[in-house]
Amino acid sequence: MSQHTGLYTFETWLRSRNPWQTEFQQAVMEVASSILPHFEDDHPYRQYRVLERLTEPDRLIAFRVVWQNDQGEIEINRGWRVQQSNLVGPYKGGIRFHPTVDESTLKFLAFEQCFKNALTGMQLGGAKGGADFDPKGRSDDEIRRFCQAFMQELYRHIGPHTDIPAGDIGVNGREIGYLYGHYKRLVNQFEGALTGKEIEFGGSHVRTEATGFGLIYFVEQMLKAQDDTLKNKRVLISGAGNVASYAAKKAIAKGAKVLSLSNSRGYLFVDEGLSDKHIEWIIAHSDKENSLAAFAQAHQEGKYIEDQSPWGKKADIALPCATQNEIKLSHAEAITNAGVTLVAEGANMPCDDEAISHFRASEILYAPGKASNAGGVALSGLEMAQNSSFTRRSFDSLDEELQATMAEIHQKCVEHGQQKNTVDYVLGANLAGFKVLADAMIKQGY
Ligand code: GLU
Repeated sequence: MSQHTGLYTFETWLRSRNPWQTEFQQAVMEVASSILPHFEDDHPYRQYRVLERLTEPDRLIAFRVVWQNDQGEIEINRGWRVQQSNLVGPYKGGIRFHPTVDESTLKFLAFEQCFKNALTGMQLGGAKGGADFDPKGRSDDEIRRFCQAFMQELYRHIGPHTDIPAGDIGVNGREIGYLYGHYKRLVNQFEGALTGKEIEFGGSHVRTEATGFGLIYFVEQMLKAQDDTLKNKRVLISGAGNVASYAAKKAIAKGAKVLSLSNSRGYLFVDEGLSDKHIEWIIAHSDKENSLAAFAQAHQEGKYIEDQSPWGKKADIALPCATQNEIKLSHAEAITNAGVTLVAEGANMPCDDEAISHFRASEILYAPGKASNAGGVALSGLEMAQNSSFTRRSFDSLDEELQATMAEIHQKCVEHGQQKNTVDYVLGANLAGFKVLADAMIKQGY
């Protein structure tokens, strides 16, 4: 069987086993198309059907979440935990509360998480969970009741050596606090079964900032390899959550000009660049209905442009930090036409497959999220280590370790993705992560 036929056979197999799950198929095929051509049919990775096995979650837990809203009405949601693989460590990955959450979304996220976590070099398996619950517009009491109802089922499937959830879209410090409080009530153990906790009860410094900071540390490494720096670079960022805000803060600290942030309704554009104080204001007002529009109004600075994205504005660097598939081919073309030479993903799978093909075929540098946004989960690994020894490390020492980890991940991408005179970061990240998982799978038998 030729290598091309191998990929074709794999694709047919995958699509027939997972019909309708388009996000999942997309994430797997992105990995498969860079991995499979690298290994002949008789290679042990192919013989042991490593990739096929990695696409099947170890376990997929689906449950009903029943709770009461402020009007006293009963609401019903769906909750899931996808425990994808514990080959190299306990299941690890965030929880997402968003109306778009379904099995396909969580399976793609859990699959990507395995590769990302393997790239960190830490003992972290891969998982993802969530619910089709929309936290927008809910009162604090409703959020608490929902988190407790969600944990009422989840607690029996997690634990510090089993599965350690964290935050993701719609799940931040407040939600983790409610989830952890209820976990503790149910199991009567103070243990690191969740990361992203508040500092007062086992949380870690730098966890909140880690994904955004890590993204910028990774970008610095990409630029360093070209004898370049972030100084005076014009940077477009999408999103306005944790990842986007802390990436913006760090980029500004490194001397870059951050021109934009965005949300589901439009984007904020400031041609002279946002300041650190501006980002602080936006973080402080993040629970507002539309903090970016409110910013433009309150500061008479910049413009909030409705129903559009920042892609296409003249810039050097683009950092998509919002959500999956926010960049389609037309956006990708607008990005490269506007002079951008580096794209690094802060969100998980923000570029669709056509956009990725466009970036890879262009001259630009393109880093996939499983490498460039691994800083968040890496810091979660450090939170777990602190919890297990009941210690607390300083902000500076953790920040330094985060920088070192991102540099190591970058190095792995270079080693596995080096082409003639450029680095294929997609190939590098996929191959480096895959080898760790494949070797662990074969050595552990079946
Ligand atoms: N949700 C984050 C991610 O996509 C963090 C996961 C974690 O810390 O477990 O990597």
